[in-house]
Amino acid sequence: MLIESYVATGGRPDARSEEARAYRRLYKTARWKSLRITKLTEQPLCEWCLEQEIVTPASEVHHVVPHKGDEAIFWSGPFVSTCKPCHARRGQLEDHGQTVVRFGADGWPV
Ligand SMILES: [Zn+2]
Repeated sequence: MLIESYVATGGRPDARSEEARAYRRLYKTARWKSLRITKLTEQPLCEWCLEQEIVTPASEVHHVVPHKGDEAIFWSGPFVSTCKPCHARRGQLEDHGQTVVRFGADGWPV
């Protein structure tokens, strides 16, 4: 049983909106839609839930490396399959430049 905690390492949420406008169109491309389906077919379960031994169907594809509009990263990945709640929580924090550190029940980072 792991307890998730989040450590802020200097995110800059204010800078996001400009970038977001620029790359939102990437998510609307046929290329992304097929890439997304390929990933979800390969790994249909939420990989972050699986780390905690919870089995949840994945519905989102998250960029492991925040692409910030960089098309090379956007298309090459790596990607992780996640469920909606995980993506909303941990995914957005990572996109804001924050590092996710998880702590075990003993209080030490894992
Ligand atoms: Zn999940």
